[in-house]
Amino acid sequence: MIITIDGPAGAGKSTVSRALAARLGYRYLDTGAMYRAVALVALETGDDPVQVAQSAGWTTRLLDPALRSDAVDAAVSGVSCLPEVREALRGAQRDFLAAGDAVAEGRDIGSVVWPQAELKVWLDASPEERRRRRAAERGEEAGDTALERDRKDAAQMIVPEDSICVDTEGRSIEQVIEAIVQLSEERA
Ligand code: C5P
Repeated sequence: MIITIDGPAGAGKSTVSRALAARLGYRYLDTGAMYRAVALVALETGDDPVQVAQSAGWTTRLLDPALRSDAVDAAVSGVSCLPEVREALRGAQRDFLAAGDAVAEGRDIGSVVWPQAELKVWLDASPEERRRRRAAERGEEAGDTALERDRKDAAQMIVPEDSICVDTEGRSIEQVIEAIVQLSEERA
């Protein structure tokens, strides 16, 4: 089964998706990390992000702590809005998902990348809550940047028509994961 977890910055996608994949024994695909890796390599080398995305250079950087730096936070939306970058990364995402059982998180996974997913979740929380979470994790500035990034990413954030909206506000990670596990059992 493919489960997609899409939604804005700070909704809890990474924490929920990673834990959900571990719980189900599924593979985990962090598509935000892919866009961040392309942005990081482009920043470091000065190369055109389209060329970076179409090469294999970014693929070794997916676990680099620098992916979460302020510089990458600020640059990534300018990279992810380029159609050729999206085309290259969507190809890699589809190759990964074609191998079966996975939890994939992003902005456009249930809508564009893998619309045939058996379960599509849109994870959300209010802007105040999302800002607060990012600020608690990484400081006040990161909180503001997360909301600013959502504005820049608006075109990439496509709520799939047949997705189930899960509001994470006021719920623990465990409660959110439990709710999604139940949904997946209903669809199995
Ligand atoms: O999920 P995360 O915040 O790590 O994503 C980083 C950036 O990657 C987003 O701000 C967005 O610009 C881009 N992104 C995207 N489409 C996705 C996942 C992420 O455009 N499916």
